[in-house]
Amino acid sequence: MEILYINPIFKQVIWGGNKLGTKWGYAIPGDNVGECWAVGAHPSGDCTVKEGAFAGKTISQLWTEHPELFGNIGGDRFPLLVKIIDANDDLSIQVHPDDAYAGKNENGSLGKTECWYILDAPEGATLVIGHHAKDKAELEDMIRNGKWDAFLREVPVKKGDFIQIDPGTVHAIKGGIEILETQQSSDITYRVYDYGRLQDGKPRALHIEKSIDVITVPAKSVEDSVLNVGQGAKNQMNLLMSCSCYRVWKIDVDGQINLTQEYPFLIMSVIEGEGQINGQAIKKGDHFMLPNGFGQVNIQGNLQIIASTVGE
Ligand code: ZN
Repeated sequence: MEILYINPIFKQVIWGGNKLGTKWGYAIPGDNVGECWAVGAHPSGDCTVKEGAFAGKTISQLWTEHPELFGNIGGDRFPLLVKIIDANDDLSIQVHPDDAYAGKNENGSLGKTECWYILDAPEGATLVIGHHAKDKAELEDMIRNGKWDAFLREVPVKKGDFIQIDPGTVHAIKGGIEILETQQSSDITYRVYDYGRLQDGKPRALHIEKSIDVITVPAKSVEDSVLNVGQGAKNQMNLLMSCSCYRVWKIDVDGQINLTQEYPFLIMSVIEGEGQINGQAIKKGDHFMLPNGFGQVNIQGNLQIIASTVGE
C-alpha cells in the first residue's frame, strides 16, 4: 500500500509574508502568502496527490471514489484540514461557530474546532485567546463600544506551545508567529475586530451579531487553553489532543520509531529535520497520508512530525 504524498495549496492574504518560501522552501505564488493548505479537501482548497497510483487526484475525489483508503468512516466530506500559517502581521480577532450554529446559519457548513502547534514565535510573543468579559451583558458592552483593551485576553506563547480552540473562543495570531493548524474542514470565521485596518481603502467586513451569538462567556481559563509541549518523549507518539473532531500527536524521532497505522487514516506533516519512512526520504515541509490498513510504519532519522486523524 502506498503513502499518499500531498501537494499543498498556498493562499495570499493581507497579513501574509514570504517565509513559506524562504524558510520552508515551497514554490510560493508571490508575496503575502500566509497559509499553506497542506492536507485538505475543502471547496476553497482541494489538495492533490503528488505521485503514484492516485497522482493528480484530489482528496475529495479519493474520499468519494475510494472510501476504503479512509477506513469507510462515512460522512459527506473529508473532515480535516491541516495548514501551516505564517503571520507576517496580526490577524483579525475572530471566533468560529460550532456545527449546530454553522449548519443552521451557514448553508450546512461544518463549524470549526481548531488547534495550533506553535512552530516558531519571536521573543516575548503573545497572541489573543479568550476574553475578560464576565457575562453576556459585559461582552456586548465591550464589543459594541470597542473596549478592546479591556476585552481581549492576550497571553504569552513560545515555540512548542499547543493551543486548543473550541468553537466560541475569541482568538487571533499576532505577527511573527508560525503555527501548524489542525482543524475541521470549514472556513466559517466571524471577524470581531480588525484593528481598524483598511484593505483597498475599505475596512473588511465584521460579523458583530454572529460573534456575540457564538462567543462563550466566560472564556475557558488560560491554563486550560495553552499547553506546553516542548520536546516530547523520543520515538513515540505523544498525544497532544483528543476531541470529537480530531486526535493530534507530536512525534520526535531521534533514531527510529516503529508503529502500526491502526487509525482510519493518519496524516503526517514533517515540521523539522529529515529522515526516511519505510525507506522513502522525507524532510521538513513534506505532508502525507497513511491510508487505512497501511500496517507497519518505520520512521528513521532526526525529525519532528505532527500527526492527526479523526476524533474518537
Ligand atoms: Zn480560527
